[in-house]
Amino acid sequence: MKCSVCGQELENEIRFLNHMMEKHGFRNPNIGTPDRNSRGY
Ligand SMILES: [Zn+2]
Repeated sequence: MKCSVCGQELENEIRFLNHMMEKHGFRNPNIGTPDRNSRGY
């Protein structure tokens, strides 16, 4: 996969998503990264 923002190539979707989040601050609700702080109440 290739980052559409900076053009960096990622090995797989996981790395791609991590890259997007870490480098570009993206948040993908499909990844399954629940916020422990905002988990219901
Ligand atoms: Zn990027």
